Amino acid sequence: MPDAETLPCDRAIGRVVAAEVTAPISLPPFRASAMDGYALRSADAARINPRRLRVVGASSAGHPFPGEIPADACIRIFTGAAVPDGLDAVVLQEDCTREGDVVSIGVAVQPGDNIRPIGHDVLQNTPLFGPGTCIGPFEQAWLAACGVTEVRVWRRARVAIFSTGDELIEPGGAIGPGQIFDANRHALHALLGSPAIDLVDLGILPDRLADIESALATAARDYDAVVTTGGVSVGDADHVREVVDRIGQVRLWRLNLKPGKPLAYGRLGRAIFLGLPGNPVSTLVTTLLLARPALTKLCGGVPDSPLALPARLHGDIRHRPGREEYQRGNLTGGVEDPVVSVVGDQSSNRIGSFVLANCLIRIPKDTHDLTDGSRVTVLPFNALL
Ligand code: AMP
Ligand code: MG
Repeated sequence: MPDAETLPCDRAIGRVVAAEVTAPISLPPFRASAMDGYALRSADAARINPRRLRVVGASSAGHPFPGEIPADACIRIFTGAAVPDGLDAVVLQEDCTREGDVVSIGVAVQPGDNIRPIGHDVLQNTPLFGPGTCIGPFEQAWLAACGVTEVRVWRRARVAIFSTGDELIEPGGAIGPGQIFDANRHALHALLGSPAIDLVDLGILPDRLADIESALATAARDYDAVVTTGGVSVGDADHVREVVDRIGQVRLWRLNLKPGKPLAYGRLGRAIFLGLPGNPVSTLVTTLLLARPALTKLCGGVPDSPLALPARLHGDIRHRPGREEYQRGNLTGGVEDPVVSVVGDQSSNRIGSFVLANCLIRIPKDTHDLTDGSRVTVLPFNALL
């Protein structure tokens, strides 16, 4: 886990809280009116018949009523204004009739009506949130409302990314025979970059053992995590796993997952190592399902389980029992009858299958072919991204 640092709250969006944050004040800090109306003693409203009270002043937001309120009297009050001590209810102006400085109360009144008690949102010295919370807009709003200006967060995790492959060139270059443009590093940039991560792009590594070894050994010293794509399968040019085995530890290799089988996980010194498969679709799926949650944990956060929803399959899916599979799907229909169809050819080189999709369709490992109308589970992208 990286060390912690103290940041001004407005620079802490997307960062992970390192120590419990407590409220320095109660919120609201005073008893506040929830409505526009009249503040009174509920006992007066019950006792006087007809229920007519004298209006002796007003309390509006930012301008509390300063004086004492005599018996059988009330004040005009507005939303967010302080309710004076001794008064215990606010009656909506719609439920009152005003004539000069006298108001007639047209409803039964209970103590506490339309008053937000002190600490209704949070009490002084009680927790706002604990370590592991990612600061988003809601946390930001709560910190500001409590007057908190600084927060202790984990230092950004330093994460290095590499692509591997002799066939890869950077987009923009002139493409030669047998070459392809590097897609994966750009996908990793988009998917792994976050305010909690200092993502450093270390470029493309050739399929040469010595080059891979020296690059990974150097990266292991400088980064909290090293993420590579490609070179972790069983081909003659796949050296990444062998290098990690030699200079670090491979703790896991190959998952019962399609796409994404040849994934390696391990350590390089103090850094965690993630060797993602090279096929771009495999890279994208394993990044969404595994690399992002792993890095969220590395940053001190708590990964959410992906939102999984039921849907009715439109069309067929061929699947042999064996591996858990994720296909790219398009989810339509409302909450009443969500329908999902597979988007195009699902080959693991086809990045295009992602572009028209809005979810992954999860096919459990023991499933046989699925026919039109089957119940399936989908993971919407907008909850994964
Ligand atoms: P590998 O796992 O290295 O054998 O790669 C599997 C397949 O993915 C091969 O067809 C590679 O050319 C392709 N590939 C690997 N890395 C990338 C990348 N960064 N961008 C696009 N395609 C890639
Ligand atoms: Mg390769």
